[in-house]
Amino acid sequence: MLDIKVTLTKNPKTKPADESALGFGRIFTDHMFMMDYELGLGWHNARIVPYGDFSMDPAAMVFHYGQAIFEGCKCYRRADGGLQLFRAGDNLARMTRSAQRMCMPALDEETAMEGLKQLIRIDADWVPHKEGTSLYIRPTMISTDVGLGVHASKKYCFFIILSPVGAYYKEGLKPVSIYVEDEYVRAVRGGVGFTKCAGNYAASILAGDIAEKKGFSQVLWLDGVDQKYIEEVGSMNMMFAYGNKIVTPRLNGSILPGITRDSVLKIARQLGFEAEEARLDVHEIFADAKAGKLTEAFGTGTAAVISPVGVLAMEDERITLGDGGIGPVAQKLYDTLTGIQYGRLEDPYGWITKL
Ligand SMILES: *Cc1c(COP(=O)(O)O)cnc(C)c1O
Repeated sequence: MLDIKVTLTKNPKTKPADESALGFGRIFTDHMFMMDYELGLGWHNARIVPYGDFSMDPAAMVFHYGQAIFEGCKCYRRADGGLQLFRAGDNLARMTRSAQRMCMPALDEETAMEGLKQLIRIDADWVPHKEGTSLYIRPTMISTDVGLGVHASKKYCFFIILSPVGAYYKEGLKPVSIYVEDEYVRAVRGGVGFTKCAGNYAASILAGDIAEKKGFSQVLWLDGVDQKYIEEVGSMNMMFAYGNKIVTPRLNGSILPGITRDSVLKIARQLGFEAEEARLDVHEIFADAKAGKLTEAFGTGTAAVISPVGVLAMEDERITLGDGGIGPVAQKLYDTLTGIQYGRLEDPYGWITKL
């Protein structure tokens, strides 16, 4: 593990006074963690420095060929005031898997984890206290080689920034409306759908924008080949409940393997639900919803944790699920998972790291 040099800010910022108005990812703490990579030298220069601008050459490869990957995880404040990370090590391991696909170096996960812990201890007062709030953690890796030849960069920068956040959706646990995208696709098999690369988001913004203008809050992506199998939502995996049975699209290389998805599947089985990963035909899902067999749909992801779907729409069809409110399955899973994350419930899975 690398030594981490710490430089503290001389100009600490004023912390937000009203924790109910935090929003998502709009304000950042006083410090950030950084380290550099160079072929032959490996990771080096691990440091915690005051949060601030980067200075980069306009020919840095990340601006042109887009080798950029990120992660998202959270630190929670318990009722006793203590802080705890939820599955952050799994996020760093996923970043290494993203890196391999993007021809970027494996992360020094040990130094990154130690850097993250030190960074949060330094900025601990930024972790909000109010119910439903948390500290969002954004690890990112970018290519920094200068030059316009298309090849793998030899230099990279890894950094972690922190943002105190409120509930992801302004509506809270209120259900979202989702539009099934049948023209554009997000990812194809053999591509980079399973990675958290910046380009996946760039490719998804147009469809998200169109859906928003139609009055929907999210896009539901179909597979890139047949355009009929359900993949996932913008930044969430999808789950469907048939009474006591939960089904979710199986991981096929074009879906992001969500850590919340994995957590919810494990918790669901522990709670006595049946949980199945399968290939889900969107037309069958719509038929089941219309027949009243499909009782709930919800998204899972770090930012919103669980987000119930109230309305599903495709072409001219529009289906309201249940009574359009949060269903009992989503509520139970939300209560159990957030209970573990905030330390209200015991963690039998080894997911929590106390700071
Ligand atoms: C990050 C992300 C998710 C959710 O993953 P979590 O690890 O649960 O936060 C789902 N889909 C996409 C496309 C994502 O980028």
